[in-house]
This record gives sequence, structure tokens and C-alpha cells, in this order.
Amino acid sequence: MQSPYFTEEHELFRSAVREFFRQEVVPNLAEWEAKEQIPREIWQKMGAMDYLGALYPESVGGAGVDFFYSAVFIEELGRLGNGGFAAAVSVHSYMALNHIALAGSSFLQEKYLKPGLSGEKIGALAISEPNAGSDVQKISAKALSDGDFYIVNGSKVFITNGYYADFITTAVKTGEAVSLFVIDGNAEGLNRAKLKKMGWYSSDTAELFFENVKVPKENLIGEIGKGFYYIMESFALERLSAALMSVGAMDYILEITLKYMRERESFGKPISRFQALRHRMADLFTEVEACRQLVYYTCWLLNQNQTAIKECTMSKLKASELQKKVADECLQMFGGYGFMNEYPISAAYRDARAATIAGGTSEIMREIIAKITLDNVSYKSAYGK
Ligand SMILES: Cc1cc2nc3c(=O)[nH]c(=O)nc-3n(C[C@H](O)[C@H](O)[C@H](O)COP(=O)(O)OP(=O)(O)OC[C@H]3O[C@@H](n4cnc5c(N)ncnc54)[C@H](O)[C@@H]3O)c2cc1C
Repeated sequence: MQSPYFTEEHELFRSAVREFFRQEVVPNLAEWEAKEQIPREIWQKMGAMDYLGALYPESVGGAGVDFFYSAVFIEELGRLGNGGFAAAVSVHSYMALNHIALAGSSFLQEKYLKPGLSGEKIGALAISEPNAGSDVQKISAKALSDGDFYIVNGSKVFITNGYYADFITTAVKTGEAVSLFVIDGNAEGLNRAKLKKMGWYSSDTAELFFENVKVPKENLIGEIGKGFYYIMESFALERLSAALMSVGAMDYILEITLKYMRERESFGKPISRFQALRHRMADLFTEVEACRQLVYYTCWLLNQNQTAIKECTMSKLKASELQKKVADECLQMFGGYGFMNEYPISAAYRDARAATIAGGTSEIMREIIAKITLDNVSYKSAYGK
């Protein structure tokens, strides 16, 4: 039956992305996990296919397609069953570049967005700090005006792509307000330390230190002091991307679990024949389908140019919590093998744990949803939507 959201062209695009990943990504994932790094060539290959620009209009060098192409691309990233690669690509394409595309000057778009879309330059988005994660307004990295430059001091933590990024879209305080700057990866005084994680190995996650970093004033994104509003608005897209990744990841987890259940025998029959397990899987399939419909509906709202903060936040909360549950319950179907590293379900279980934290915790999602639904708080678009 025809989907209300995806056309035949979207499905052709899905097949092409899946085939590209099958050839160029899947055979290398184990190596990238072990090295905790993604080689530059794969970024360039994705750039050449226009995959990194699915969100952006042709006027800034993007593919100029509707949002459901992004939905397909992010879901397929999730379906790879590798949280690190999926996070690295989506942070670059949907977070680091997005601010430059929406509010960056033509200078910044030429210098960072275009090479970002072609995969020549890799971007990171640096908001979180050691003492300010959920509470973005409490960030303390500072930029002080000095002639044609801002001098930036402070640090950031948990930054995806942070170690190798060629540019870092960075939130800093300018006086009492927050502003966004692009900080070049070659800037003097920028130091980085790679962090060790329990999953998401392929993505490099770093702590960044800024010591009197001279940032040219032309690297300011949009207006001075408006960074907090830009960030809040882009969080909606970030959360929907995270939800789409979770939906893809859950499809992957259910698929590998079903395969295992059909092959593994106990008491003389495949474990997929035991009613106790069948009913649990039936529940999971049902919950994933319900979640998928919320996420797709939210994509439809974004495609209508609506900010959809409530629905994006609900999508992230529901999909990430469900991913954690699906990974946990499916691991149980593998018995002891589920606990072994060589079985991909164990990596899926580890990777799922980041979903309810990165991109805003579930508690913060509930806070936002409660404010909108219980207190009738509404959010104004920074771009006048
Ligand atoms: C793998 C990974 C990748 C990441 N990538 C990036 C990145 O690329 N860029 C970036 O800027 N950040 C990134 N982050 C950081 C992430 O956004 C933060 O970890 C997250 O926002 C939570 O902040 P925190 O870790 O400081 O936790 P805290 O804010 O200290 O929260 C600790 C606990 O308190 C709860 N809590 C806090 N405030 C409230 C409240 N008001 N009500 C109820 N509970 C509350 C939280 O939900 C959490 O359970 C990444 C994190 C991870 C794990």
C-alpha cells in the first residue's frame, strides 16, 4: 500500500542509500569501530552522492529535496546498527552545518558549508560543557571582542566529531547572552582530547579546550547574542534526527533478533515458536510501529515548514526510550550469546544506551513536553516561522 509520506522516488532513494551503505560502509564498520575513527574518504563519497546535503536548498549547494529524503537517509543510517557512524554523520550534516546554512553569512557558507556538503571538511557542534549540559544557558566559555577578532576561552565536553573536525560550530557567551561562532580546526589555542566511551566507538567524541583562541569576527553565525534562540530552534531538528536514527536502529535490532530466533533451537524447536517469546516480540513490533508513525507525522510537520517543537521532543523521548527497551528485550532472546561481544546485539545494546542522553536527556524532553502541554508555554521561532 502507498505510504502517505514516502513516494516511489523516496523508496528508490532508500534502495540507493542502502546499496551504497552495503558496499561502502558495512564491510568497514568493524575496522572503524576498532580504530574509533571514520576515514575521510567515506565522507567525500557521501558528499559526492549528495547525501550530506539532503536537508539543504540548492541555493546553498544542497540537494534541494523535501524532508522525507532526510528521513530516509537518517533512518538508513540507524539501520546500519552502528550508533557511532550514524551519530558522526548526522551531527555533521544536520547539526554543525545547519546553523551555518540557516544563519551563516555567504562568507561562512562558502568557507565551511560548501566543503561540508561535499565531505571535504567535517564539522562538529560544541554546546555541552563540563558544568553545563542540560542547562545550556549556564555555559561559561566566553568570547571577548578585540578589534577584528573575538578571543575565546573555555572548554567543551562530549563533542561528537570533536577530535577530527575541521570546523566547530561553537556556543559561547558574549556578555550575558549566547552567540554562535564557527571555530576553525586549525585555530591556535584549540586543544582536543579524545574520550573513551562504552559504545558509539566509530564516532570520535572529544573534550575541547580553548585558550585565547582568536576567532575572526566574520566567523560569527547570524546575530550577536541570538545563539540561544538558534540552538533552541535547531534542537527540534536534532531531536527528530535522533528519533529517526532510533527507529532505524530498532528495525535493525528486530531483524537480527528474528533471524536468530528462527535459527536457534531449544527443546527441539526454533525459539521463535515459543509463545512466551512470540508475544513479547509482537508487543515490540507494535510499539515500534506506533513510534514510527509519530516520528513520520513529525517529519510531515517539518516538511510543512512547521517548527513542531512539541512533536520533535515527543518523538525523541518515545523513540530513544523504546530503543533502549527493544535492545534490552531482544538481547534476552539471544540468551548467553547476547552477552558476547561477537554478537552484534551486544553492540546494539551498548549503543542504545546513549540514545536517551545525547541530544538532550529524556528528563529534559519531559520537562519541555510538560511546559508545552501543562503550562501552555509556546516557543517563538528564531527565524519567524
Ligand atoms: C555519546 C555522546 C555524544 C554527545 N555529543 C554531543 C555533541 O556533539 N555536542 C554537544 O554539545 N553535546 C554532546 N553530548 C552531550 C549531551 O548533550 C549531554 O550529555 C546531555 O545534554 C546531558 O548533559 P550532562 O551530561 O551535562 O548531564 P546533566 O545535565 O548534568 O544531567 C545529569 C542528570 O540530571 C538530569 N537533569 C538535569 N537537569 C534536570 C532537570 N531540570 N529536571 C530533571 N532532571 C534533570 C539529567 O536528565 C541527567 O539524568 C553528547 C553526549 C554523549 C553521551
